[in-house]
Formats: sequence, C-alpha cells, structure tokens
Amino acid sequence: MQALKDIIRDIHDFPKKGIIFKDITTLLQDAKSYQRTIDLLSHRYVGQHIDKVVGVEARGFIIGSALAYKLGAGIVMVRKPGKLPSETFSKTYDLEYGTDTLEIHTDAIKPGEKILIADDLLATGGTMCAVVDMVQNLGGEIVECCFMAELEFLNGRAKLPEGKVFSLLSF
Ligand code: IMP
Repeated sequence: MQALKDIIRDIHDFPKKGIIFKDITTLLQDAKSYQRTIDLLSHRYVGQHIDKVVGVEARGFIIGSALAYKLGAGIVMVRKPGKLPSETFSKTYDLEYGTDTLEIHTDAIKPGEKILIADDLLATGGTMCAVVDMVQNLGGEIVECCFMAELEFLNGRAKLPEGKVFSLLSF
C-alpha cells in the first residue's frame, strides 16, 4: 500500500496558493499501480451484488467504470451541470467559497438498487455528501462510498453515512 501512496505526487499551490493537491495521475498512468488499485477496491465488493456503480465527474469515472466492469455492474455518471441529455435531478452544495452543482439522470437508479459510489479522493466530504443525497433521493441503497485516497485530517467521512466509507489509501 505504501508503494501506491508513494506514487501519488504532491503539487504545491494548486488549484490555488496554500493548497497541496494530491495528483493521482501518476498512479493512473502506471499500469501495475492502476491495476492493483482497481483489483484491491473491486475485491472488497465481489459477491455483494452491486447493481450499479456511480462515478463522480471526472476522475471518479476512471475508478468507477473499471470497478463496474470488474463487478459486472452498470455505471452511472454524476456530472457537472448541462452535460446530461435527459431529465436530471440536481444538487447544489457548499464549497469553501461559493457553491457547486452536480446532476444525475432521474431514471439512472431504480428504487432498491444496490449502489456503490466511487470517486478518486475524499477531502472535506462536500462532494460525496451531495452524491449520497442524490442517490438516496432516487431510492438507491448505498452499499458504500469508496475512494482511492482520503485526506484524513479533513475528516470528510464525518459528513457521510456512518460505516459506509472506504478508502484504499490515507494521507
Ligand atoms: P471534497 O468535496 O472537499 O471532499 O473534495 C473532493 C472532490 O474534489 C473530489 O471529486 C476530488 O476529485 C476533488 N479533490 C479535492 N482535493 C483533491 C486533491 O488533493 N487531489 C485530487 N482531487 C481532489
């Protein structure tokens, strides 16, 4: 696990001054590391009869679609506003400065379906909290919210359903 952590690089002052951004592109572009990440995450959910994986734009698509393929599940996209062509359910949530909005197709999830939500990284938890709300509004049963990595010191998991958060790597 340390090898996977080591391959993620820190970018100072991105996207703005004072922030240390965890750049996971270095892990994704390394064939063995990407494969190991998906293998380890998917192994956790084999046999749990996941109907759909929900991936969060944009890096969540890279994790979510690989997991969906491995688990024999469908993949659902949660996207930035104006990108999804059919009827959508929107959720606006607070950021440090201002707000952001995400959308999902209203027919993407049927009541009672078992849902795994995937994103690359858990920071403050605001993004995933919004996605949890969207999935629950459509009647989905959340199995877990899974992440490649988590910034533990921000305690984002406190905003998410208790006991339903898993991250492979912690910083
Ligand atoms: P949160 O809403 O504060 O938990 O931020 C999580 C969202 O922002 C995820 O969709 C991440 O892709 C993105 N994000 C925030 N910080 C980082 C980072 O350091 N590296 C990569 N993605 C990040």
